[in-house]
Amino acid sequence: MSIVCCPQGVKIPRVFELMNYHQVYGLTEYAREEYKKLLTGTKGEYGPEKCIECGGCETKCPQKIEIIRQLKESQKALA
Ligand code: SF4
Repeated sequence: MSIVCCPQGVKIPRVFELMNYHQVYGLTEYAREEYKKLLTGTKGEYGPEKCIECGGCETKCPQKIEIIRQLKESQKALA
């Protein structure tokens, strides 16, 4: 999977990785703890809260993933 850059600093691959921990492996508490770190913006990397729905990532995504929708679902599950 290619890295899709977000002008807002949303770390999309990390958010999806954490959702896998939650959904696939049932490591929900771990995923939520790691998600909290994204809220602090450490290293200029943020969670879905910073998304302004510009659509840039979806345009660039070769797999045509509905990133905005999935970010919202991640926020609901992990925030
Ligand atoms: S839609 Fe959201 S996550 Fe995607 S590039 Fe724009 S601000 Fe970043």
